[in-house]
Amino acid sequence: MAKNKLKVEAIEHGTVIDHIPAGMGVRILKFFSLTDKNERITVGLNLRTSDNGSKDLIKVENTVFTQDQANQLALFASEATINEIRNFEVVGKFKVALPESIEGVLKCPNANCITHHEPASTKFYVKDKGSRVDLKCHYCEKAFESEFFDELN
Ligand SMILES: [Zn+2]
Repeated sequence: MAKNKLKVEAIEHGTVIDHIPAGMGVRILKFFSLTDKNERITVGLNLRTSDNGSKDLIKVENTVFTQDQANQLALFASEATINEIRNFEVVGKFKVALPESIEGVLKCPNANCITHHEPASTKFYVKDKGSRVDLKCHYCEKAFESEFFDELN
């Protein structure tokens, strides 16, 4: 099994997000604005997994994810794991969990939704559909797959 270990540079303090579905890594970098913080980031795309699948992986230095962020991550990568690293050691390991709802983070994909025209905060109800996650808008009641959502500015 050792040959399947990833040869990615170790980080001293920070966060490793592993088991991201291949293709979602870049989306997650953008979603959490990880590249805005000037911290060193190592990204692995289309890495081989032990069962011959592929995955993405992100290592961010000096950044700790909150449980809220971890739950938001679940919208895009429900299988992802988050490892918190301190002094090169994994000190915390948690699986992401889908939140029941998400408020004030995402923009409604429905252009006619009232949230685009009034300064209302957004709110979406999360529906786990197995292979994907749907979000239903509290205001216009339309549901969309999570990958169609952009962040609020
Ligand atoms: Zn809406």
